[in-house]
Amino acid sequence: MRTTSMSEYYNVSDIFGVNVFNDNVMKERLPKKVYQKLHETIQDSSELDLETADIIAHEMKEWAIEQGATHYTHWFQPLTGVTAEKHDSFITSPDAQGKVLMSFSGKELIKGEPDASSFPSGGLRATCEARGYTAWDCTSFAFVRHDAAGATLCIPTAFCSYTGEALDQKTPLLRSMQAINEQSLRLIRLFGNTTSRKVTPSVGAEQEYFLIDKEKYLKRKDLIYTGRTLFGSMPAKGQEMNDHYFGSIRPRIAAFMKDVNTELWKLGVPAKTQHNEVAPAQHELAPIFETCNMATDHNHLVMEILKKTANEHGLQCLLHEKPFDGVNGSGKHDNWSLTTDDGINLLDPGKHPHDNKQFQLVLTCIMKAVDRHADLLRVSAADVGNDHRLGADEAPPAIVSMFLGTQLESIIEQLIENGVATHTPKGEMLKTGVDSLPDFMRDATDRNRTSPFAFTGNKFEFRMVGAQDSISMPNVILNTIVAEAFKEACDELEQADDFDMALSAYLRKLAKEHQRIIFNGDGYSNEWVKEAGRRGLPNIRTMVEAIPALTTPKAVELFGKFNVFNESELQSRAEILYEIYAKAVNIEARAMINITHKTLIPSVIKYVTSLANSINAVKAACGCDISVQTELLTESSSLLSQARKALQALETATDAGLAMNAGKEQAEYYSENVTAAMTALRAPIDKLEIMVDKSMWPMPSYGDLIFEV
Ligand code: ADP
Ligand code: MG
Repeated sequence: MRTTSMSEYYNVSDIFGVNVFNDNVMKERLPKKVYQKLHETIQDSSELDLETADIIAHEMKEWAIEQGATHYTHWFQPLTGVTAEKHDSFITSPDAQGKVLMSFSGKELIKGEPDASSFPSGGLRATCEARGYTAWDCTSFAFVRHDAAGATLCIPTAFCSYTGEALDQKTPLLRSMQAINEQSLRLIRLFGNTTSRKVTPSVGAEQEYFLIDKEKYLKRKDLIYTGRTLFGSMPAKGQEMNDHYFGSIRPRIAAFMKDVNTELWKLGVPAKTQHNEVAPAQHELAPIFETCNMATDHNHLVMEILKKTANEHGLQCLLHEKPFDGVNGSGKHDNWSLTTDDGINLLDPGKHPHDNKQFQLVLTCIMKAVDRHADLLRVSAADVGNDHRLGADEAPPAIVSMFLGTQLESIIEQLIENGVATHTPKGEMLKTGVDSLPDFMRDATDRNRTSPFAFTGNKFEFRMVGAQDSISMPNVILNTIVAEAFKEACDELEQADDFDMALSAYLRKLAKEHQRIIFNGDGYSNEWVKEAGRRGLPNIRTMVEAIPALTTPKAVELFGKFNVFNESELQSRAEILYEIYAKAVNIEARAMINITHKTLIPSVIKYVTSLANSINAVKAACGCDISVQTELLTESSSLLSQARKALQALETATDAGLAMNAGKEQAEYYSENVTAAMTALRAPIDKLEIMVDKSMWPMPSYGDLIFEV
């Protein structure tokens, strides 16, 4: 187990990015011409010739070897949800004298060929057609990772099939970034900007996670196999006192966080904030925002480093969306904005949003995009674990809506009224009532923690994403749906004879047509569910219900138009999601069955036997009152037989599910029948946990897990 010693204190700027082949390193090491060429490729998405790639590969290898690297890997993001890699060493075949060289060619840098047959493809490729390619993404920096395997040069890559179809998270993300770039440039040109050359989505992902003691974790087979507890009753104290949220961070956790930050900084991940979250044992980490693509890669690194560092500290990091029933789960907030290469944020309303027409067009287009494609945003946050979280009074509801706050809502209302906004409500002075404290301007808009899609000053925050999911798909959707709305606006406004008049009419139309997506109230309330129904907003409760959104004619048209996904890619993704869902629930059900058979029922039998023995012994000894033991015995025996019946029902349901063909129907079956059978088994077991002698219960309780870290 690691603790921090004084000698480990360092200057952050000395270590930041030391393991990254970043722009500075490239500038320093590459010949000027090569560096410029690479820059052009990154800026303009032009193609890189093999000669240039050879020189870059050589320098990259030399640099990596200086960092201790012996191997390189094309690091990619297949649709399994985690990253994948296959390692090759740099050595060439030994020469006649038995000596090897370390080599790395441009070809090896830009293209890899892992066997694709074992990665999910959703029917895009038959297993016999195993070819898949990884292609270097030069817009995300290569880095050297140090772990038990030594040091490895990791090259971020996209992963495609033999026929060029995307088999990963990165390819569509890069495609969607091209789409939003093109349409955003058109939009800003409308307002006279002729100087910005590129518009890139900026993304900052806040990551929530739980930390529990490793030894206790190892005693919970449910956590080991499924990432969440399948049994467990709430301890006497939960999170009701809110004393963990933003509470001071205990030394064991602080030492962990310090090591996480150090590792991340070395990898060039700008880890910025850390705090305790609402639930006991829950924490959050947020880096500073970066380009969408880097932020997505870096979020994968954050998840990896959290897990690895926890291990080194005798802890286990849980990234599951709902590790503990009855305790807040974990999500990810995807903060999103659009930034030009010369530093203009298109989502910055400025001091006077009522005068900022460009911002008004951006905002109303985003309203249109979110309203029209709420179902796609919903499916981008669909995850087996998130089904336990969304709409459960702790995370946004399953209904997508937008929070704008009083200031911007007033602008929208003015636009609806007469097509122009003439004033902006201002923040007031905040008076603390204490002379020695400064009075300051209050923000014009409060925060709303219950909204799934909230405007927060100069960005939108999409809060539905699951804690263990890649943020790729949410950003693919955001980039593409906003690109579409921008395109439609530009198609119309570029043709206008009188731009100001046309713009005013257009803003008014969008504001009016899509006002229904705005909701500033309490998203957790039942009233909102009813109100959203009246407004005709979709309420898509589960992952399985969300998946069909991917393949509607509306989605096929949208993604086809911007070359983000073709129809077969969409269908394959839907298939993969159905399959992932059924498999995950099947594993959970099997784990429940095993644990119940092997440890829970035997423990309860021991307990009821001890009660029976006690009854007999006490009766024989003195004939005293045995009513308590008898009551406990009756109750626990009855719960035991309920559990036994529920167990058999779960076995039957799971067997039937397994016998079905993979796909929509099977997923629906698991979602409806198997999950219900799981709940039915859990109920008597959780009641028994409260009754049974603690020393006889075969696994640590919720209290042990979340209050004793
Ligand atoms: P809050 O959610 O409390 O407003 P922050 O302001 O710290 O918290 O932002 C949370 C995340 O949003 C961080 O990752 C931050 O870097 C990111 N962020 C801040 N500004 C932007 C922006 N313009 N575009 C995208 N992400 C941003
Ligand atoms: Mg936030």
